[in-house]
Amino acid sequence: MRRPLIAANWKMFLNTQSGVGLAEDIVRLIGDVRERDVLICPSYPLLADVGRVIEKSIVMLGAQNMYFEKEGAFTGEVSPDMLLSVGCDSVLLGHSERRHVFNEEDLSINRKVNFALQSGLKPVLCVGELLEEREAGRTDEVVKNQVQRGLEGVDEKGIEGVVIAYEPVWAIGTGKTATPEDADSVHGLIREVVGSLYGGERAESIRILYGGSVKPENIDGLMAKRNIDGALVGGASLKAESFARIVKYEDV
Ligand code: PEP
Repeated sequence: MRRPLIAANWKMFLNTQSGVGLAEDIVRLIGDVRERDVLICPSYPLLADVGRVIEKSIVMLGAQNMYFEKEGAFTGEVSPDMLLSVGCDSVLLGHSERRHVFNEEDLSINRKVNFALQSGLKPVLCVGELLEEREAGRTDEVVKNQVQRGLEGVDEKGIEGVVIAYEPVWAIGTGKTATPEDADSVHGLIREVVGSLYGGERAESIRILYGGSVKPENIDGLMAKRNIDGALVGGASLKAESFARIVKYEDV
């Protein structure tokens, strides 16, 4: 049985004060939730303060990116050790905005995945196709390649710490969501790729999140699908009530 995970990506929004306020509201609103994991990924400057707010709650802390070196002359970058030192448990890697705004490629994303695992952080490897790739019927090929390349060098033990997030790029921040059926089918393909690399048991146990305009109105239908184990939520995670409702999705 896979434990559901609902993750918030706050992107480059909020400041220390509003981030702390939002975290306090989220903790209060989801206080009684059991049997699911919750992760909040604020921007770097907010990590320590938000970390203190969620410390005694079920909410875990994650970062939105990291660099694949321990330390050094890498101005503007942040290492896994730094993230661990402020209480991070996980890190988003290969988010579509990193890939498409900052030109990150599979090779560097893969180095980050391996270095995160080596350092004790759980990577959330984000994959997803562009609209033109979907329209050209290339979704499966693109997603399969991103998963295979992202996981290169990750061994049997390492894969236990990995979460994969399928986020079709055309659905991120656009209000358009993949139908639960379409998302489930791509998640099924991802599970097959993991199975071909690590065997059926790992394929069954790996958590695969859906991301792309997830909101209170569509979460229940998405979570009803067999291969969808949770959500990576951008816009709707910036409002405590909507994020809490997503966390408290209902079985339909
Ligand atoms: C995201 O940032 O990962 C995301 C899915 O954003 P949104 O929910 O706003 O589409």
